Amino acid sequence: MTKYIFVTGGVVSSIGKGITTASLGRLLRNRGYTVAPLKLDPYINVDAGTMNPFQHGEVFVTDDGAETDLDLGHYERFMDVSCSAGSSVTTGKVYQNVINAERRGDYLGGTVQVIPHVTNEIKRSIIALAKEQEADVVIAEIGGTVGDIESLPFLEAIRQMRTDVGIENTMYVHVTLVPTVGPWGEVKTKPTQHSVYKLREIGISPDVLVCRTEVPMPEDVKDKISLFCGVPPQAVIESMNVETIYEVPLTYEDAGLGDFVCKRLGLEARNVNLAEWKSLVDTLKNPKHECTIAVVGKYTSNGDAYKSIGEAIIHAGIPNNAKVNIKWIESDSLEHGLPPQEVLGEIDALVVAPGFGGRGIEGKIEAIEYAREQGIPFFGICLGLQMAVIEFARHECGLTGANSEEMTSTAPYPVIHLLPEQKGVVDKGATMRLGSWPCNVVNGTLAHQLYGSTRIDERHRHRYEVNNDFREKLQEHGMVISGVSPDYRLVEMVEIPTHPFFIATQAHPEFKSRPNRPHPLFTGLVAAAVKRRTSVPVA
Ligand code: GLN
Repeated sequence: MTKYIFVTGGVVSSIGKGITTASLGRLLRNRGYTVAPLKLDPYINVDAGTMNPFQHGEVFVTDDGAETDLDLGHYERFMDVSCSAGSSVTTGKVYQNVINAERRGDYLGGTVQVIPHVTNEIKRSIIALAKEQEADVVIAEIGGTVGDIESLPFLEAIRQMRTDVGIENTMYVHVTLVPTVGPWGEVKTKPTQHSVYKLREIGISPDVLVCRTEVPMPEDVKDKISLFCGVPPQAVIESMNVETIYEVPLTYEDAGLGDFVCKRLGLEARNVNLAEWKSLVDTLKNPKHECTIAVVGKYTSNGDAYKSIGEAIIHAGIPNNAKVNIKWIESDSLEHGLPPQEVLGEIDALVVAPGFGGRGIEGKIEAIEYAREQGIPFFGICLGLQMAVIEFARHECGLTGANSEEMTSTAPYPVIHLLPEQKGVVDKGATMRLGSWPCNVVNGTLAHQLYGSTRIDERHRHRYEVNNDFREKLQEHGMVISGVSPDYRLVEMVEIPTHPFFIATQAHPEFKSRPNRPHPLFTGLVAAAVKRRTSVPVA
């Protein structure tokens, strides 16, 4: 029998439900349980694919090609699992399924309503994921904050789940804020109480309260929360801000959350071995080396827009025993008069990030030119590869005006172009080259050395590709195509062997990095950055 844990949030948004869900998942995974994380998102978009990264942050891509909420990235990184399309359910997806069913005549004669049709569809999705992943435990996070109008059908569905599958198989974890106010920094429980009342109004009584707080919670505050909210004192979990998010599972374990959840759900108490996790947290907190990596992107003003890239860089610091400072640079700033040496002067490596559309791309190209000429380690990701190819074509192959068809239809040398199969595509949602694709890695290249394999798989999310008409020209001038699709049709990776470290990939390797399994391309980049920091005197 699968167990279901539902994670809700109260008082304010951005309270860390995703990290809580992911951390609890880690504790159960360490006990040997199969955990399927799930995000239930109240927005009406069918998926996150068409959302603006400035507003919504990163679009996370799964192996099976779903464009999802960035919380799935937290789940994958903390739990070391692979999510699927079924791990993300939005209001849009639910209604799409209900309306399709209505059109097929599945409810013939019936009046289609939120209860039971929409709530049934939500419950069906939750149970379908449990079956698909043969999960011992499903941990479902409900997006938004309790009290939002749009999350009501999801809350009603998880309320019904308790009746459907039994009290012993369901648990509600509520993440809440315990603020401090006034000149003496008094810890206040009222917002938590109100948020729990709000949950009770709709028939849900939480079993666990995870209390986000900036100061340690005194015992009497915990007792008060326990009394007013009807939760046993050992289930009032203090969640203070920590140095690294990867420390959160350890603080929850220390607070007894793992054991409490197992006991409550009747899961066999098992030994937890958190040694590996403890050791990686220890390295993150006490690194030997340090380096600075600049990430040039188009959406850097939203700290979540490149979430997985930021995390992958941090993970790569672990095997290198290095603290990696990330300098986020908006690519526009390089176009508006700031010389690259001023912006990039003191960095040890450069990442050029993914993105869509023409704004800021000349800034990216300028940054790449600088890194290529100065021997600064460089790693291009997706649009970053495309810009590296354009830069090389313009400045090394003499193809003045080389560009991507995404930016202009009149470039004299369209070195990046639309795939033939993309030409007739008009819909924007879920129509890119998405999900995991295999790639052959060329023997003896940097890519080969880093991956240690000639056959790899990476996730993709793009429409444009290197134009094969220019492959020869690029190669003649010293760019090596180190990764190709198995049918040789698509360029997947390029590098410049005469440079200390210059590599770019059409894929998104950041989605597959885990703190316990950092991605080899990022690990190589950080190693090159640390090497540069220790060998090149700062100008
Ligand atoms: N805009 C480019 C494309 O669609 C790159 C996309 C990306 O960086 N993910 O091909």
